[in-house]
Amino acid sequence: MAVIKANAYGHGAVAVAQALSPEADAFGVACIEEAIQLRTAGVTNPILLLEGVFERQELPVVVELGLWTVVHSLEQLDWLLHTDLTSPLTVWLKLDSGMHRLGLAPAEYRKAHNALLSCGQVAEVVQMSHLARADELSCDATQAQRLCFEAATQGQAGERSLHNSAGLMGWPARPPEWVRPGLMLYGVSPLDRETAAGSALEPVMSLESALIAVHELQAGEAIGYGAAYVTPHAMRIGVVAMGYGDGYPRSAPAGTPVAVNGKRTSVVGRVSMDMLTVDLTGLDARPGDPVELWGRTIALAEVARAAGTIPYELVTRMPARVPRLYGGSAGAR
Ligand SMILES: *Cc1c(COP(=O)(O)O)cnc(C)c1O
Repeated sequence: MAVIKANAYGHGAVAVAQALSPEADAFGVACIEEAIQLRTAGVTNPILLLEGVFERQELPVVVELGLWTVVHSLEQLDWLLHTDLTSPLTVWLKLDSGMHRLGLAPAEYRKAHNALLSCGQVAEVVQMSHLARADELSCDATQAQRLCFEAATQGQAGERSLHNSAGLMGWPARPPEWVRPGLMLYGVSPLDRETAAGSALEPVMSLESALIAVHELQAGEAIGYGAAYVTPHAMRIGVVAMGYGDGYPRSAPAGTPVAVNGKRTSVVGRVSMDMLTVDLTGLDARPGDPVELWGRTIALAEVARAAGTIPYELVTRMPARVPRLYGGSAGAR
């Protein structure tokens, strides 16, 4: 199952769904609006609502669009059992195996599973849970969650699903489990540590812009809002058409890596809405030259770390004003 919620982690849900539709047995989204967007664009693969329906009134739409839905609470179970549906649904019944976000408690799980199987409104039940700490490779919590999942689902018929990207990369899956990768589909590792699986990934997104001005400054000159950076020596400074209004984190401090003409250098001064400034000292660079904020030269994870956040947040908040260009090899327009 390819997870393409949040506009495919900022990459464009429809474009990503179209690219992956021959490969993916199903897509995962967060809410019915995201599923409607995909169906409207002609995507015919199964689509799972990962959080289920938010209100009872969505159930007829789920049937009409041929969606699959998660049931994670007794309330959702009750809605499903007591709404007349025109055709039976595929339900993913979620167990809370220790994360305590969504899912039925282990004590409620079997009864709910049996209720779904016997109600006549359900075509199939997939048993699922979600891992809280799979990115921590030496943490016992994942094994504890797995044992909890196995105990709750043991002897019950049907397919199973446990692994997100970190689960897949760090822990063995038990085929034929459904796996639910999100971040790794976009070529980004959720693990802090370098691993073989992580270095095999290639970033799908590269965030690119260009220099729009170049200045030679003396020592002791202040740059940008709040004079947050003062040149310690004579410097060549470049202004890049990229700011927090384009999804670049304002919290990225001086020293955050960027690449100008493919060469690594760093941000200086405060990131503003439409622009940021970079150190060009010692580099051959002029207005119009390409700048990569993240991509093949600068790992998204490096920028996220410098800015005090995670790769997930940076890609998902990429705003609409940044045009998405698809299908090019690196450097193509
Ligand atoms: C978002 C999500 C995933 C994908 O998580 P990644 O860490 O991006 O791989 C998988 N399962 C569920 C239930 C999710 O909500």
